[in-house]
Amino acid sequence: MLTRHSSGPPRTSDLIIVGAGVVGAACAYYAARAGLHVTVVDRGPVAGGTTGAGEGNLLVSDKAPGPELELALNSAQLWRDLATELPARIEYETKGGVVVASTEPELTALRRFAAEQRRAGVEATEVPADRLTDLEPHLAPGLAGGVHYPQDAQVQPALAAAHLLRAADDTGHLTLRLGEEVTAVLTGRPGEVRGVRTTRHGEVHAPHVLNAAGTWGGQLARLAGLELPVHPRRGFVLVTEPLPRVVRHKVYSAEYVSDVASGSAGLQTSAVVEGTPAGPVLIGASRERVGFDRTLSVEALRRLAGQAVRLFPALARVRAIRTYAGFRPYLPDHLPAIGPDPRLPGLLHACGHEGAGIGLAPATGALIAAMLTGGELALDPAPFAPDRFEHEESVR
Ligand SMILES: Cc1cc2nc3c(=O)[nH]c(=O)nc-3n(C[C@H](O)[C@H](O)[C@H](O)COP(=O)(O)OP(=O)(O)OC[C@H]3O[C@@H](n4cnc5c(N)ncnc54)[C@H](O)[C@@H]3O)c2cc1C
Repeated sequence: MLTRHSSGPPRTSDLIIVGAGVVGAACAYYAARAGLHVTVVDRGPVAGGTTGAGEGNLLVSDKAPGPELELALNSAQLWRDLATELPARIEYETKGGVVVASTEPELTALRRFAAEQRRAGVEATEVPADRLTDLEPHLAPGLAGGVHYPQDAQVQPALAAAHLLRAADDTGHLTLRLGEEVTAVLTGRPGEVRGVRTTRHGEVHAPHVLNAAGTWGGQLARLAGLELPVHPRRGFVLVTEPLPRVVRHKVYSAEYVSDVASGSAGLQTSAVVEGTPAGPVLIGASRERVGFDRTLSVEALRRLAGQAVRLFPALARVRAIRTYAGFRPYLPDHLPAIGPDPRLPGLLHACGHEGAGIGLAPATGALIAAMLTGGELALDPAPFAPDRFEHEESVR
């Protein structure tokens, strides 16, 4: 259990969370339910950061055995629980994923990957080429085969963040401060955190401050005098006009997995195609590290559209009605930073979830709450240690 500081200025909360994205909201939810008084501060609205630009895939299918998959499996369970605790408006759907291979060598690699995942607890069933249309009637002919992942699910990210905060508020333990920027992390004499300074309320005190600032987590850490190499990895999503249910699962090609795991700064696209309850098909998402540049990339959209049509030829006749971009919070080893920062007692981090923050939010929140209250940790948090980059050159 983390020690609460007994001395210092009067406190208004046990925990200040900087960031009202899905990760901050999940941390607030689990911490408030554990009895902590929580203040969430965001300079914008709820889900105004990357959460509002995400797609809402809750994937285990794209993760190799290791710490991120453990976190994803734990989160998958917690999302199932949340689906019964939060209103149906969060649009949680256990639709499952289908990963398809175009060639025999790709299928061999996919088969090997799925076998490793199965040993780590993932449900994965091979689907022969001639049975793929049982799952997805509109899939292109000529594919080599695929794997069905029934644990993959979906949620509407902004609504999920909003309802997590509303449920936290229902405990009576939440103060939400929106439109208020954190400009300093306050420390006391012995170098312990004692709160934050915000643009509207001046000093806000608490013995613990959680950095849930997503892609801006590095900047928040710097306010505390620390380095955390979180960088933006841009992604575009293409949205079609509303359609009858053409795509039933999350469907993507096997090459997507290597794109996700790659650290390349260059443009990568491997379309994940999915239908939504409202009708539009989402085609996402590209990956590239170009800083916080929001300029529309026609090349990224052209590639996404082309790949989606190769998977679902019927989409060639469908109009794309809009596109949006967001910045994934990228840490050099593709793992988030979760837990207390040993360099500054009282400071914790829950950021850097890259392209999986919506999926990984509940497990992150539950871990943070357990760390603060002495609860049982569902998994070993060591791989997510926030100071693990301390002796490495920052990678852009
Ligand atoms: C195109 C795209 C598609 C994606 N698809 C998926 C997907 O399908 N599944 C999935 O799991 N993930 C997906 N992601 C990734 C996911 O969106 C992110 O990992 C997740 O939203 C991160 O959430 P967060 O709460 O950490 O950050 P954010 O949502 O960015 O929240 C951080 C908040 O901190 C606030 N903030 C920052 N600095 C300060 C400050 N100084 N003072 C006050 N407030 C501050 C910001 O205003 C912001 O609201 C996708 C991302 C992109 C870009």
